[in-house]
Amino acid sequence: MPQKPTACEFCFQPKNPICWSQRLDAWTCLTCHLTQRTAMPEYTDSKEPKFYVPPGRYILCVTEYAVKYRQTGKTAGSQEFEVKMEIEGQGCAINEYFILHSSTIWRVEAFIRAAGIVLKKGQGWSFIKNEGLDKGWQWTDLIGLRVHAQLIQDPQPNGRIYNKVSVYYSDKGFLPKRVMAEQAESAENAPSEEDIPF
Ligand SMILES: [Zn+2]
Repeated sequence: MPQKPTACEFCFQPKNPICWSQRLDAWTCLTCHLTQRTAMPEYTDSKEPKFYVPPGRYILCVTEYAVKYRQTGKTAGSQEFEVKMEIEGQGCAINEYFILHSSTIWRVEAFIRAAGIVLKKGQGWSFIKNEGLDKGWQWTDLIGLRVHAQLIQDPQPNGRIYNKVSVYYSDKGFLPKRVMAEQAESAENAPSEEDIPF
């Protein structure tokens, strides 16, 4: 990669990402727009990014999630988990939105069952560690959960194609959780009984 300039030769802006924007072959000063060409782009043998797969059955694995609250519509105020799942072996991922609202909870529960998690009817549960600890809620750690799922394609008005889950299968066998690097590290520090998600 090209070397970062030390400072702008014209306005002397310091060399940091706030003052400079980086291209493959140049840095541009955001104050005076002086562009310092550094080198030709180096060949990196990059592959065309893949954004979706053909419809079919795949294994999904949760790699990231973010907790939000719905702002609008009939689900406003409900907790929402924006979940990123790797489509295993395909080099791409899918975003799923689990909304904890009475009208959408069936989808979340279908996912939970597909992941092989057994909850009793009426049992409290949470995706957030320590939430409901005093009430005896079961914590389900999303990270590393794996499911069999049917994917379909969802073409957008802008021409992009996304995948969407049409079915979470709970009759195709269950898959062991994937142990993430972070989890493997903390496992070395001997977690206490109640830290172990089921
Ligand atoms: Zn400058």
